[in-house]
Amino acid sequence: MKNQKRLSRNSKKLERWVVKAGSNMICSGGPILLRAWMNQVSRLRKEHSVEVIWVSSGAIATAVDRTDFKKKKRTLSEKQALSAIGQPLVMDLYNIALQTQGQLGAQVLLTYDDLTNRTRKQNFQNTLEQLLDWKVTPILNENDAVATEEIKFGDNDSLSARIAKAMNADRLVILTDVEGLYDSDPRVNKKAKRIEELKGVPSSLLKSVEMASGKAAGTSRGTGGMVSKLGAAKLACQAGIETWLVKGDSPQVLLAVAENKLIGTRIKK
Ligand code: GLU
Repeated sequence: MKNQKRLSRNSKKLERWVVKAGSNMICSGGPILLRAWMNQVSRLRKEHSVEVIWVSSGAIATAVDRTDFKKKKRTLSEKQALSAIGQPLVMDLYNIALQTQGQLGAQVLLTYDDLTNRTRKQNFQNTLEQLLDWKVTPILNENDAVATEEIKFGDNDSLSARIAKAMNADRLVILTDVEGLYDSDPRVNKKAKRIEELKGVPSSLLKSVEMASGKAAGTSRGTGGMVSKLGAAKLACQAGIETWLVKGDSPQVLLAVAENKLIGTRIKK
């Protein structure tokens, strides 16, 4: 039904992507990377007929970077409060980056519950459809002040898959700080090879990545991160959505995905 709507209001079919940017990427890349991303969002629409729903982490990490709060072990409520400090700072960066493209962004904060409650889900869908119709880029994050699922585990990976499903997206693109999924941990094994393409996420693969991340606990943040990313890809696949795991700061990474270049790991449905 939404496909039909997308068709009728644009005369040619728009593809819809959900793109998720992780905390590490946002903090290490800063305003320059965000500007490069928003430039690509604008080009995706113009050159590839792709509209983007953006999911951004980085609120807590940005608050930690900008304040004296350097304590490593943080309570849940401290993380929530940090997120409330960091969220407007992250949005400032997105707004500046979008303004340089002559575009507007819109902040939408949500929780898992918003996607399971029928009325709230419908309201969420209506708001996003309207923003996309106005060519305004929705920038989403978990509402950490009232929900803690993604703070505990996941960095918005799972939430982005659920958003992709709710918004009937065609692709989920996860921007991360590694090149993709490897056949073994590239930090431990120099001969590790990147997996270019997968059909679905086999349970055996998910299990072996889970085990590898368990063994390397504390030293292998990337592998641990891969568990939640594969979980998100599995969820997306089940909803008929293709997932790409790609390195977020590769030059023109989103345009490369649009051109189906052999980058990262492409997980076909
Ligand atoms: N919603 C969190 C943020 O924006 C996700 C990051 C995390 O899990 O630490 O900071």
